[in-house]
Amino acid sequence: MEKNSTKSKDQFVSEEEKTLNWIEVQEAFEKIFGKEIYSSWLKNISLLKEYNDHLILGVPTRFFRDWIVSRYLDKILEQLKNFKLSLNRIEFKILEENKSSSNSENFKIDTLNKVTEIKDSILNYNRLNPNLNFENFIEGSSNEIALSSAQKVCEHTSRYNPLYIYGGVGLGKTHLLNAIGIELQDKNNVMFISAERFMYHFIKSIKKNDMVNFKDFFRKSSVFIIDDIQFLRGKESLQEEFFHTFNSLIEKNSQIIVSADRAPMKLDRVQERIKSRLSGGLIVDIEKPDLELKVKIIKRRIEDIQNQFKENPNISEEVINFIANESKTNIRELIGILNRVVAYTRIHKKKLAISDCKNILKDVFNQAKIITVDKIQNAVSNFFNLPLNEMLSQRRSRPLARPRQIAMFLAKKMTTRSLPEIGRRFANRDHTTVIHAVKTITRLSEKDEEMRNNINKIKAILLEE
Ligand code: ADP
Ligand code: MG
Repeated sequence: MEKNSTKSKDQFVSEEEKTLNWIEVQEAFEKIFGKEIYSSWLKNISLLKEYNDHLILGVPTRFFRDWIVSRYLDKILEQLKNFKLSLNRIEFKILEENKSSSNSENFKIDTLNKVTEIKDSILNYNRLNPNLNFENFIEGSSNEIALSSAQKVCEHTSRYNPLYIYGGVGLGKTHLLNAIGIELQDKNNVMFISAERFMYHFIKSIKKNDMVNFKDFFRKSSVFIIDDIQFLRGKESLQEEFFHTFNSLIEKNSQIIVSADRAPMKLDRVQERIKSRLSGGLIVDIEKPDLELKVKIIKRRIEDIQNQFKENPNISEEVINFIANESKTNIRELIGILNRVVAYTRIHKKKLAISDCKNILKDVFNQAKIITVDKIQNAVSNFFNLPLNEMLSQRRSRPLARPRQIAMFLAKKMTTRSLPEIGRRFANRDHTTVIHAVKTITRLSEKDEEMRNNINKIKAILLEE
């Protein structure tokens, strides 16, 4: 119980109702979220007002609030409910939006050091990978335009500005960006950073009141390469900062290269003015590789292995074609499969047959499978032959309630969704209902063989689909 602080002027709930001891809450946060997340984020939340059913919490900036809300809100609420049962809502108040950074004293003292600090941490995380160069990038009809545009930018910077490369995951965007960075780094001040990392430094600088150095640091590059720009979606203050960075770079004729998972105009929840800036240069896309390119990539990797390890992986033409045909998603997956196959031949010291390959592939695909709450709900309702809407309805009869509980149980076990999130997907049930379901099904499957078998069957269906 708080003693002194409850005597504050703000009596929003009566003394008896006031139950939160913020220090205890913070300790719980640290345990649940781990030291790192806690000290970067949650530690900075303060309790401003306590009402019976909701709280007003203080956070340093708007950005900070967006970040916390998008990542941790469910879990925070879930935790707080452990301390205060009647709670059902949290509001955030932004505390120091207009605290100016430019006149802060400690700036002048140590400007140089701070720049180095940003620089060091960027160098640590964003070193160019020497293996992702143009030489190792294999050309095919799906990527030839992107490749030649990237090479042209290297020959003659700021002709196409920005160069915008987009395409699905694992198709070679980061590889190309990295190759450009390597090519240009000798003669230019190259900055290569992912949009996520850019944000990390942005927030860190806000927290340290260090925005001036942040701006200087990013704006002085002559080649600015930013990967996965779709990360900006929905993040207002980051977009604001990016927009200004972008403009000042273009103004001084720095080359900008951007990658994304979609075309600029398809970036929803991104400001129009940014989209239009991003569209102002050259836009190229990378498509899924065709069979020919996949075979070329596999052969080149095998060659590399031969050269590097002085061993012959002994993989037949037939197996190469089989892998290339089976891997339909992207190049990252293709390489992953090949690595498995190579590891297998090493361990078993034998030439691989197609049947071995099939087994390896089955494993790989099972691992890559993404199970969602939707898929689970569908699988369970099919399995028990129940219409989905009845299974999700509020009716409590056992023939409906058990499958519903099984679906909740599997959602908890097979997805990364939090309890409140799962509850919401089940016709807005409370997270305590989910907890109850998980406990019930765990208990039942320990003693009831049929239950155990059913769950295993549904799991198998989900993994095989
Ligand atoms: P993205 O950034 O588009 O998600 P990456 O650039 O990380 O994809 O590529 C995934 C993997 O595939 C990396 O190991 C990369 O080296 C490899 N890769 C992609 N395209 C090619 C290519 N054309 N030639 C050789 N390797 C490639
Ligand atoms: Mg990438």
